[in-house]
Amino acid sequence: MPGLVPGIHDLRATSKTWMVGSSPAMTIWLHASHSKALDAGHGYSAMLATAGPPCERSPALTPELHQKLTAWRRHLHAHPELSLQEKETSAFVQEKLTELGIPFEAEIGGHGVVATLTRGSAQGRVGLRADMDALPITEDTGLPYASTSPGVMHACGHDGHTASLLGAAALLAADTSWSGTVDFIFQPAEEGFGGSRAMVADGLFERFPMDRVFGFHNWPGLQAGTVAVHDGVVMASGGRVSITIEGHAGHAGMPHLTRDPVMAAGHLIVALQSIVSRGVDPLDTAVLSLCTLEGGTARNQIAGRVTIGGTLRYHREAVKDILLARIGEICAGIATSFGVKVTPEIVMGVGVTINAPAEAGLARLAAEKVQTPVRRDLAPSMAGEDFAFYLQKRPGAFVWIGNGELRDGAELHGPRYDFNDAILPVASGWMAEVAKTALASN
Ligand SMILES: [Zn+2]
Ligand SMILES: [Zn+2]
Repeated sequence: MPGLVPGIHDLRATSKTWMVGSSPAMTIWLHASHSKALDAGHGYSAMLATAGPPCERSPALTPELHQKLTAWRRHLHAHPELSLQEKETSAFVQEKLTELGIPFEAEIGGHGVVATLTRGSAQGRVGLRADMDALPITEDTGLPYASTSPGVMHACGHDGHTASLLGAAALLAADTSWSGTVDFIFQPAEEGFGGSRAMVADGLFERFPMDRVFGFHNWPGLQAGTVAVHDGVVMASGGRVSITIEGHAGHAGMPHLTRDPVMAAGHLIVALQSIVSRGVDPLDTAVLSLCTLEGGTARNQIAGRVTIGGTLRYHREAVKDILLARIGEICAGIATSFGVKVTPEIVMGVGVTINAPAEAGLARLAAEKVQTPVRRDLAPSMAGEDFAFYLQKRPGAFVWIGNGELRDGAELHGPRYDFNDAILPVASGWMAEVAKTALASN
């Protein structure tokens, strides 16, 4: 082909390579990519916009314990730590467990902690999980207990999850009405850093052989204290998408001597939008969102390289296969069309969060026992949750607990988000109750 610069032919050939590596822990694909932008946050923004009255208090949780949990939650909020760096948070959890007289093991899968209570002679064993990490987000709440770590924020409410699980441990430690074993899993690195996988790899289910696992996420926009239980899919699986386009840089006035990756990126972005709209069954759910675009340094130079970043999401594994295949095909096609090298790389998450039917029933029953409203009609979310990995190993359920009214900027991962301390009694109460209910069902 006349005019191609040296090396471009070879580059085009390599752009056809797709899957380049995999491991039991994580599959890594080199692909072409693109996306279709549905609303990744639709789960809580669109369908739950109802504020309600203050949540009812679990009769099991005293005002004194609520006050204590609130203080602990706010301490954690003021001292957030990023994924994989939850050293002080882990130490705080260990300190509180020690105060409560509950034995634990630390440094599991990193900064993970597992505390265990055994009572009576029943053989059943249930795991309850909370995540502990914060996000690289600058807090804008103006709260007296706002983050003291610049650029780090508990914007997903994991401070509240951790405090709730400590509350559940306190409740069960003081409760003589159950028999069996309960493991309290304080997990690090949920926000995309494989914390659940790390704990499982560190022998979580061998060292603490639980039969079932349960967890929750607070849900802004859902009435405070309402427990939402899904039959089946709760949260999406997905992957991080990164696409590099390499061309040949040169003078903007002499484009015929270049291979322009910016123009190729434009075509690629548009072409990738066809995957969800034309490649995926309209009755299925998929998202391919391209969220970052970087390239070029001078207005009069055609750049040599462009990178595109984004995310893909889905609720069914078969949809993943379609997304990955089409991304690869379209990247290869764009590479051929424009004489550039297109290298897609996709790092897949841990999987779709899917409730087991029996455990979803136990989750509902437990919510009814703590006398809080239950919703069963909510659509799944396209947000991801690494609790999915536990559910691949053990039956269980993951519920949402309403965080109350959704305010502007206060959605999950928003700079004005804050966990609602009023739901601590329901969150702790539901966790304690679901453990007891599951043990009693054996
Ligand atoms: Zn999050
Ligand atoms: Zn979260």
